[in-house]
Amino acid sequence: MSAHITDGVILKVTDLRETSLLLRIFTEKFGKITCQIKGARGMRASQGGIPQIFSFNEFVVHIHPKRDVHLVSEYDLRRYYSHIRRDFEKITLASYLSELTDSLLEENSPNPDLYGDLLKSLDFIDKDAMDPKLLARIFEIRAMQSSGFLPELDSCDNCRGNLAKGLYYDNASSNFGCPACLGGKGEFLIWPGSIKFINRIRHDEFENLLRIKIGPVIGKNIKDFFSMIMFHEAKHYLKTMSFAHKVKQVL
Ligand SMILES: [Zn+2]
Repeated sequence: MSAHITDGVILKVTDLRETSLLLRIFTEKFGKITCQIKGARGMRASQGGIPQIFSFNEFVVHIHPKRDVHLVSEYDLRRYYSHIRRDFEKITLASYLSELTDSLLEENSPNPDLYGDLLKSLDFIDKDAMDPKLLARIFEIRAMQSSGFLPELDSCDNCRGNLAKGLYYDNASSNFGCPACLGGKGEFLIWPGSIKFINRIRHDEFENLLRIKIGPVIGKNIKDFFSMIMFHEAKHYLKTMSFAHKVKQVL
């Protein structure tokens, strides 16, 4: 067992035994890991308090190479995001991003792009820097991209034709194709405007996207596309989509 210092965001907190907690942490060094922390439930605020979901901390982690659960011996709170915790809409959005990240990540596999995007998103939510629905759509697109679920959207995979009329997704075969190749079979259509938006979002710096505009029709199309990819392609990692449905009024 070796000790490491790493930064990380807490994605999930579960009660374990009397005073122990189980933490799902998205760390910079190790990707997603599950850790036990002993005595945390008795901690007073002066000692850092109880570890909180979507807080950003520095951890001392003891990695067991052959176990699924590691040990946190110390943690130092870096960002609490107090504005998020005082606002229902902000809490809902931050919780959604945490759950979505947890669903897409494999254990012990670092994902620096998604890690950076999650930290920036929490900061933007805390500072009210971005419209919540826009932030949710941008995070979904970039999370698909950094997890390998977003296809190239430059031309049709089959005929190499352009995507001026959009791109169909066939969830039964996981194929993408232009309307001429795949149309007429009831598959999901990613609109041309959505393709343009997605291609802008996937390659630009997050900071450059704060004032970008998205209309309700394109927003809905992208949200539905993301839900389909999560359900049909990422199901191996996905535990539940019910949370997203419960909070759809906000997101
Ligand atoms: Zn085609």
